[in-house]
Amino acid sequence: MIYKGENLIEFTDTFKTDLDCLSYLASIKWSKGFICPKCGHDKFTISKLNLARDCNRCHHIDSPTANTIFHKLRFGTRKAFMIVFEMSATTKSLSASQVAKRYDISRTTAWAFMYRVRTAMQSSQKHLIVGEVQVDEFVFGGKENLKQG
Ligand SMILES: [Zn+2]
Repeated sequence: MIYKGENLIEFTDTFKTDLDCLSYLASIKWSKGFICPKCGHDKFTISKLNLARDCNRCHHIDSPTANTIFHKLRFGTRKAFMIVFEMSATTKSLSASQVAKRYDISRTTAWAFMYRVRTAMQSSQKHLIVGEVQVDEFVFGGKENLKQG
């Protein structure tokens, strides 16, 4: 389930809504099933709103974005996916101002997210990849970095 498309149309067709993106992240995160990070239980209830897993024993809530670069953003996951796509598909450097305008978010918010993406790319030893988006690299590359920070 690693997204490797390089076609913008195909990308936007695959990820039409925030829920599509969350569902993609959930499929990677829980590809081997869910185990509660707090108590180790494996039975859960899924929130229809954001696909978070609510542990049936201790009610710890684990969201698909937790420990990823997509966690607690001030804008939708779909916008974030598109920014990552753009950052990895273009050889030219993308400025925070351009991203802010394009996705209708503040320049500071755009800068902070782009910084997160770049750091994740570096920590997973992947630089800007031309023509190939490996969302999972960013997802799990970000995990390591967030722990340090
Ligand atoms: Zn639990």
